[in-house]
Amino acid sequence: MSEVFQRLDRKKANDIRILSQFVSVFCREKHQAEEKQPFSIKDEQVRAILGGRNPVLCQDCRRLLSHGIVKLLLCPYDPKPMCKKCPTHCYAPGYREKVREVMRFSGIYLLKRGRLDLMFHYLS
Ligand code: SF4
Ligand SMILES: [Zn+2]
Repeated sequence: MSEVFQRLDRKKANDIRILSQFVSVFCREKHQAEEKQPFSIKDEQVRAILGGRNPVLCQDCRRLLSHGIVKLLLCPYDPKPMCKKCPTHCYAPGYREKVREVMRFSGIYLLKRGRLDLMFHYLS
């Protein structure tokens, strides 16, 4: 995957961090009964982007986060638009709806708790 990461820019890195935080909130609040494990990714650059804060997630959320990260890394747009406004949404069937649900739920959750910093990064 090394050529993929050469194309990583600040916007994609930011989106990866936001996706990780939003999936983390969603899983913590909505999947309390599920068995969870730390999300792990082998590549050092992605680990660095996540700042060593690997979320503890259920299997479905680990899959969703992993799928989202790969899609962000492979995104052909430069500059990258917001995924929800993208004309060629690249997520696999099922993941697109799921990620929308996650972003909506966690966005409202974080707004209600005054986490405008995260919402700013999400919207920027
Ligand atoms: S949905 Fe569009 S903007 Fe988002 S990663 Fe895929 S191609 Fe890029
Ligand atoms: Zn989950």
